[in-house]
Amino acid sequence: MNIALIAHDKKKSEMINFTTAYRDIFKKHDLFATGTTGKKIHDASGLPVVRFQSGPLGGDQQIGARIANEEMDMVIFFRDPLTAQPHEPDITALLRLCDVHQIPVATNMAGAEIMIRALDRGEINWRQVVKDRKDQV
Ligand code: PGA
Repeated sequence: MNIALIAHDKKKSEMINFTTAYRDIFKKHDLFATGTTGKKIHDASGLPVVRFQSGPLGGDQQIGARIANEEMDMVIFFRDPLTAQPHEPDITALLRLCDVHQIPVATNMAGAEIMIRALDRGEINWRQVVKDRKDQV
């Protein structure tokens, strides 16, 4: 599965702890992230991460484009709900596309833990059906 990882600055340490703790699950999947988040995850865990632009420079939109193409299967987005973000419209657009395309999305660690365990139990394998159907069109 293709998993997108994004963390706002005050949530980056949570993301590092999360991806390190669940490294054995994450290593079975393909990871994508906004620039700084991806670098920090890779540096801390050694996991390979495809890095897009930094969020404020368009990274959220790049992930959104992958979602629109049915190329992203899950989004883990540790948002900072207490700090204004200059790229708020991009964040809203990304979450909107998750809803449009029925992409499992977690915006905090409590939800992400449930989702990552579900992923490991195969509960998100239905995404492959969606992708196979798209390939047939
Ligand atoms: P970053 O982008 O991973 O490059 O910091 C995330 C964000 O702040 O939107």
